[in-house]
Amino acid sequence: MALLEVDDLTVTYGAIRGVSGISLTVEEGEVVALIGANGAGKTTTLRAISRLVPSRGSIRFAGRDLTRLRPHEVTALGVVHVPEGRGIFPRLTVMENLELATWTRRRDREGIRRDLRRVFDLFPRLEERRDQVANTLSGGEQQMLALGRALMTRGRLMLLDEPSMGLAPVLVKEIFSVIQEISASGTTILLVEQNAHFALKIARRGYVLETGSIVLSGPAGAVAANPRVKAAYLGA
Ligand code: ATP
Repeated sequence: MALLEVDDLTVTYGAIRGVSGISLTVEEGEVVALIGANGAGKTTTLRAISRLVPSRGSIRFAGRDLTRLRPHEVTALGVVHVPEGRGIFPRLTVMENLELATWTRRRDREGIRRDLRRVFDLFPRLEERRDQVANTLSGGEQQMLALGRALMTRGRLMLLDEPSMGLAPVLVKEIFSVIQEISASGTTILLVEQNAHFALKIARRGYVLETGSIVLSGPAGAVAANPRVKAAYLGA
């Protein structure tokens, strides 16, 4: 049984089709990339898994049916969503943002301290700016804070929505290498990206979404080698 099993998922916004009848799985320990152009339905897919939008079809996580749950209940099960736009609290400090992310495990004091150390080791810049208000950070630092918050939540599955968006190339590399480290430490990751090149490099498998449907899936290398993917997403 896969950790995440999405079957025949459909989301509509009034008359607009967000996604229609998509199925995908994420095995424990995998990084899976979901790539596609603007408006293909990538964000919608993640929002449905987190229960931020209603949907039809089935979504199972660790054998549990998520479609009956509220968003905070999904988080409490260990599904951590890092949304596009980062989802940090702009008026709170770096430290406050990180502390708030531990609400699902408040009593685990020792573990929280260790994870804070780990976040600061991964992102020394966050430690330097621990007392700075989040909306005064650069875009790259805000993305680091969003990932730091996700780490502090200690999820089993991370849903990452366009973590490379709006970042300078050198920071994109840094963010992707941190995502690899997070994965190596045992967290399962579903990664939504327009940057297909990097996403398929760190993923084990990939799915390609076009206008609300999955048109291709397979091992990341095979997806990256597909002529259609090369032409549309890899600038070949
Ligand atoms: P992006 O990279 O721009 O976020 P995406 O692949 O994540 O693109 P979605 O944001 O999931 O795509 O959008 C899928 C479709 O659903 C698009 O046609 C979009 O216009 C539509 N859509 C998304 N959110 C809403 C909404 N709140 N109301 C109406 N239509 C929406």
